[in-house]
Amino acid sequence: MRKLVHRPRRLRRSPALRNLVRETNLTAHDFVLPLFVSEKIDKRRPIASMPGVFQLSLNEIVDEAKHAQDLGLQAILLFGIPEEKDEQATGAYAENGVVQKALRAIKKKCPDVVAITDVCLCEYMSHGHCGVTRIDGDHFHVLNDETVDLLVKTALSHAQAGADMVAPSDMMDGRIGAIREALDADGFDQTGIISYAAKFASAFYGPFREAAESPPQFGDRRSYQMDCANAEEALREVALDIDEGADIVMVKPALPYIDILWRARERFGKPTAVYHVSGEFAMIKAAVEKGFVDERAAVLEIMTSLKRAGADIIVTYWARELAAWIKM
Ligand SMILES: [Zn+2]
Repeated sequence: MRKLVHRPRRLRRSPALRNLVRETNLTAHDFVLPLFVSEKIDKRRPIASMPGVFQLSLNEIVDEAKHAQDLGLQAILLFGIPEEKDEQATGAYAENGVVQKALRAIKKKCPDVVAITDVCLCEYMSHGHCGVTRIDGDHFHVLNDETVDLLVKTALSHAQAGADMVAPSDMMDGRIGAIREALDADGFDQTGIISYAAKFASAFYGPFREAAESPPQFGDRRSYQMDCANAEEALREVALDIDEGADIVMVKPALPYIDILWRARERFGKPTAVYHVSGEFAMIKAAVEKGFVDERAAVLEIMTSLKRAGADIIVTYWARELAAWIKM
């Protein structure tokens, strides 16, 4: 027998021993469930590239929020699909916009659920960009400050309709500070801000655009979303949003940017969220359909990795299933 001082395998001998030394444990409270509510439908519509994910009607959204709560989840992230789109994203900040209506209904039936709203303009813009655009010949620009004005109106109208937190996902400069100031001025000093602080221009958003009906009709989003090659810049973006008053900062997507998540959490010590995005979801679902991976094991491993890497909050389309799996 070898004379080894350390035999790390001693602690891996049984499930009980492994549980005893497990460093990272998932709970249902770690997860936020994204929900899509559409004004254009009367009953749920499946999203082809995201098996098990649906657009919901205004009637169904409340039951879905209640169901999530019954499963042990405590937070939802709402995205709206309006009946009409235009070039000023009017539906985003309309008092009777789809998200505003959904919020009022949800908060009435489930007052304790943490209702977070996506604040962006792309779902409401006829061209699908996240901001106000100007076209000069062959070039188009997404105008920063004009966009921020509309984002502020949107965030404020969400707060008025009952949002607990607003989550700006547009990546315009200065929007967190502008939103914080407007919320405070209107008496919403307790409405929190989750900023999509480091949101990268990513190939993994494809299925979401089908879900939210928001693909850009021309150009791409690289003039506002970040270059996947830049980590230092991501940390500067996170620092800016914290300075401007973000309560929680978010990194998006998740697994390809796990280093950014780790560094942001380590450097700033702020509550940090990560968005496990539609393309990441769709990849695993496709592999599961082909029988290449076991869904439950793969998803639990991914979520544990994200939490281990510093995520306090994980936005995931598997939130419901995770709540059930963890309970067992
Ligand atoms: Zn957007």
